Amino acid sequence: MRLSEVSRWQIGGPALVVVEPRSIAEAADVVALMRDRIEPMLVVGDMSNVLFDSDGFDGVIIRIGRSLSTMRALGTMVHAEAGIAIPQLARATADLGLSGLEHTVGIPGTLGGLVTMNGGSQRKGIGLSVARVTCLDRSGNVLEFTQSECQFGYRSSTLQRPDLIVAAVELQLEPRDSIEVHAEMDEVVESRRARFPEDLPNCGSTFLSDPSMYEIIGAPGKAIESVGLKGYSYGGAQVSPQHANFVVNTGGATSDDVLAVIHHIRETVHRSTGFAMDCEVRYVSPDGDVVPAHIAAEERRRVA
Ligand SMILES: Cc1cc2nc3c(=O)[nH]c(=O)nc-3n(C[C@H](O)[C@H](O)[C@H](O)COP(=O)(O)OP(=O)(O)OC[C@H]3O[C@@H](n4cnc5c(N)ncnc54)[C@H](O)[C@@H]3O)c2cc1C
Repeated sequence: MRLSEVSRWQIGGPALVVVEPRSIAEAADVVALMRDRIEPMLVVGDMSNVLFDSDGFDGVIIRIGRSLSTMRALGTMVHAEAGIAIPQLARATADLGLSGLEHTVGIPGTLGGLVTMNGGSQRKGIGLSVARVTCLDRSGNVLEFTQSECQFGYRSSTLQRPDLIVAAVELQLEPRDSIEVHAEMDEVVESRRARFPEDLPNCGSTFLSDPSMYEIIGAPGKAIESVGLKGYSYGGAQVSPQHANFVVNTGGATSDDVLAVIHHIRETVHRSTGFAMDCEVRYVSPDGDVVPAHIAAEERRRVA
């Protein structure tokens, strides 16, 4: 399967195998099968925060998606499997009169991806609502992590380890009137629709916000705009004319095109402001290394 057919950026060459387990036990079976193999293995969700290489991925991709997406609530505690889509989970908690996931409703990923990245919006991260995370390691062991053990930080957590599969998450939410929760979610969705590009493939915010840069210049989008790069393009990759922190695929973009745009933005902003912006988006190399995309972009330049 070509990864461009399934990834949000619509970029990526062929993967050896993409498997989507239908249960935690099946995921454990895949991990067991891979134990003595030399091919790399990567766990993904909706692929809305990853840049695959146009040369592909020489290994096995385990996709934790729709087939692992049940949820149940007990009072204000919600237990959900990692493959559930975030907007679906957020709206289901709203139906139950539970508050805490309002800020996540417009994020197009899975719960597993969001918790791993500690993603969120409105300056919040999902980690705030996480009570416990159930994972599988490469030996097939089931591991439980409490909120404090996950060490959630800005778009970071200790779950960002290549040997862990996030299988399920327990969320601690608060009671709130269901109509109010839905109304706030509607506002969040509306405000995102007005600000973010929806017509071309992208991976959301490319660069992380840096608090010290934010105080002086503003968010990454503002910094990129201030150096005149809104609309800048290279090959099939373009800095979105709508929101400068989004890099869109205008058609046929390669991973090299995106990395070249990322490198150019980072260098130009650094030269002009003194701030070196780091990427939120992860680049996946053909041999299985996963790094923030600006690191891959720099490496590419150094070698060229
Ligand atoms: C239009 C758009 C808007 C976005 N807006 C936001 C936003 O407002 N806030 C925000 O934080 N993000 C945003 N994103 C980025 C992205 O949607 C989130 O980071 C999302 O939570 C990633 O989930 P995913 O399932 O797509 O993960 P993937 O992209 O598939 O994976 C991301 C990382 O998590 C790892 N991973 C994924 N699932 C698992 C698992 N089950 N177990 C272990 N590791 C796993 C992967 O290996 C990878 O390193 C946006 C993206 C798009 C396209």
